[in-house]
Amino acid sequence: MTHLQVRALRKSYGANTVVDGIDLDLAPGECFGLLGPNGAGKTTTLRLCLGLTAPDSGDINVLGMRLPAEARRARARIGVVPQMDNLDPDFTVRENLQVYGRYFDLSAQEVAARIPALLEFAGLANRGDDNIRALSGGMKRRLTLARALINDPDLIFLDEPTTGLDPQARHLIWQRLRQLLAQGKTIFLTTHFMDEAERLCGRLAVMDHGRMIASGSPRELVDRHIEPQVVEVFGDSAENWARDHGAQLAERCESAGETVFCYVHDATHLIDDLAARPELRYVHRPANLEDVFLRLTGRDLRD
Ligand code: ADP
Repeated sequence: MTHLQVRALRKSYGANTVVDGIDLDLAPGECFGLLGPNGAGKTTTLRLCLGLTAPDSGDINVLGMRLPAEARRARARIGVVPQMDNLDPDFTVRENLQVYGRYFDLSAQEVAARIPALLEFAGLANRGDDNIRALSGGMKRRLTLARALINDPDLIFLDEPTTGLDPQARHLIWQRLRQLLAQGKTIFLTTHFMDEAERLCGRLAVMDHGRMIASGSPRELVDRHIEPQVVEVFGDSAENWARDHGAQLAERCESAGETVFCYVHDATHLIDDLAARPELRYVHRPANLEDVFLRLTGRDLRD
C-alpha cells in the first residue's frame, strides 16, 4: 500500500510543458522531498496531487483514491500547508482553526475538542484569542501547520514550509515535522533548502523542466552524482590557477564568480599545490546535497 502513487503524469499550460511524465511512490510514514529550481514544476506537481489542478494525462492515486475523480474524499484525509500563509487576518487564532474545520464537515464540538491540542502543538496555547496580525511569521507558519492537522490527516503536503523564516523558527518547524513523522504521518514537501531536505527527508527527488532527474536518499544522491570531496578556491587568480594547475589535479573544476569549485576523490595533491600559494585561500569539505543540486540543475540563475 502506498500513500501516494503517480504514474506518467503530464500537465502543460499552452506550449509550456510544466510536468513532463513523472512517477512517484510515497510509502506510509516516509518524508519525501521534492527539490528543484524556480519554475521546475514543483508546485504544479503538488497541486495535481491535491486534485486542485487537472492533469492532461497520467494516474494519481492518493490513499487508495483516484484523483481528480475522488479528490473531495481524498482531501478529507490530507493536510495542506501552502507556500503563502493564507490565514484569515480578521479572525483570531482559535477562529481560524474553527473556520477551517468546517471545510471538513467536522461538527463544532469535534473541532472544539481538537483545538487545545493543536494550539499546544503550534506553541500557541496562550494565544488562542489573539488576532492573526499579532503573530510573528514563525507563529503563523506553526498555526498553518496546526490548521492542516484539524482533520487528523494521514498524508501532509507542505510547499516550502520554512521559506521566509529565521533560523530559530525554522528549527521549531523541523521539530514539529519530526514529531508528525514519529506519529506515523506521511509527509510530502517541496523545498529550496538543501539542509532542510537533508535533515528531514528519507528520500528526495530533484525536478527540473518538469522531469524527475534524480532520486534517492540524501546520502545516495551525493554518492551517486558527485565526487566525495570539494575544494573551494578563492582569490583573484583562482581562475588562472584552475586553468593551469587545478584542472590537472581535480576530476572536475567549475568557476562561479571568484570561486573555483574543485571536485575530487582524493584532495591530497590539490591541497599540497594550494599550500604553496599564499595568494589563494581555500576550503576543503565533503561534498553535499547542494553540490549535487548544482551539478544536476546548473549554476545559471532561474527567475
Ligand atoms: P516551481 O514550484 O517549481 O517553482 P511551478 O509549478 O510553480 O514551479 O511552475 C512551473 C511553470 O509552470 C512555470 O513556468 C509557471 O510559470 C508555469 N505555471 C504554473 N501555473 C500556471 C498557470 N496556472 N498558468 C500558466 N502557467 C503556469
